[in-house]
Amino acid sequence: MAKTKEPQQAPPERPAPLAPFVGQPSIVEYFRRVGPDDLAQAYFFWGQRGVGKLTFAKILAMTLHCERPSSFPLGYCGECGPCLRAVAGSSGDTIVISDEFIREADRLAGKSIERKTDVMGIETARRIISLMEMHSYEGGRMVCIVPNFDFVTNDLVYNALLKELEEPKPGKLFLLTAERPDRVLPTIRSRTTSLRFDALAESDIAKALVEHHGVPADRAKLLARRAQGSLGDALAALEGEGLSLYESSRDWALACIGAPKRIPQTPPLSRENARTEIVEVLRGARLAVRDALTLALGSHDRLLDAEAARSSREAVERLGSDAARRLVNGLTAINEASRIADETNIPPASVLGWLQVQLRSI
Ligand SMILES: [Zn+2]
Repeated sequence: MAKTKEPQQAPPERPAPLAPFVGQPSIVEYFRRVGPDDLAQAYFFWGQRGVGKLTFAKILAMTLHCERPSSFPLGYCGECGPCLRAVAGSSGDTIVISDEFIREADRLAGKSIERKTDVMGIETARRIISLMEMHSYEGGRMVCIVPNFDFVTNDLVYNALLKELEEPKPGKLFLLTAERPDRVLPTIRSRTTSLRFDALAESDIAKALVEHHGVPADRAKLLARRAQGSLGDALAALEGEGLSLYESSRDWALACIGAPKRIPQTPPLSRENARTEIVEVLRGARLAVRDALTLALGSHDRLLDAEAARSSREAVERLGSDAARRLVNGLTAINEASRIADETNIPPASVLGWLQVQLRSI
């Protein structure tokens, strides 16, 4: 993983604190002025990826539930019971609609896992509504954070949540995030307070990389420039640096297949050696998909890459009951990419771009 990691300051039994929030001064100022007692029932945070929409939503929830906040909206203490539970991901008062939450809601509703993507269905919407009816454990508001709301396309989900947003009740707060606000129905948007998250300044990204992630200054500057306003992308690039091309290709292929909602970074090819490197990339991708297929078939063959067994298994779980057929499609696409890279003059980076589209839609 990343070569550079924050030094561990906290004793091991304590979860590591969140990195401080970066940028978005007008959003912070807006909430400072509104204050914790006059919040709307629902906010819609939109803007490009990696600019802090989800992080801000989580910190806002923590500060609301904190017993000794120093300020609002970012001043949670990090040490009281509610803060520690929130950092450990076990706050009963904040629900974050993660992939795990969606799978759990499906399971509780007795639905077998066969969802192609990890976008929420009606089972998740119903579970959100029932959890939000409960009384806050920490004594404050119940907060529901829904990342990537622009991926929700199901009318049933829309209708269920619309009803929830239409009947404002004190004690509930919804925080929705989206990269593409135009994909969210106006009926939802009009019931929320819409706030735009801007691209981050290069200097803010570089500063955060140096101060919170131990990156040397020149390296941080370069990463910040490439990240085009997205701290999330800069951190993803940083994480990828410690991996060999083979490892990053393997992780890339599994991410394309297992979590098509996200767009992972394609493995970096150098300008001089792209034609040799793409062979390595396709080899990593092929081994990863082949191992996933071995698992999906329940075969007792030895995995080719036991080190990645966990990520292969997760990809298979996400693919659901149809995993084997889809992984075979994935292998076919990788073989086709090899043929194109071998036999044509199409630039290697374009071949990977094509393969990424195929793998995300098998
Ligand atoms: Zn606290």
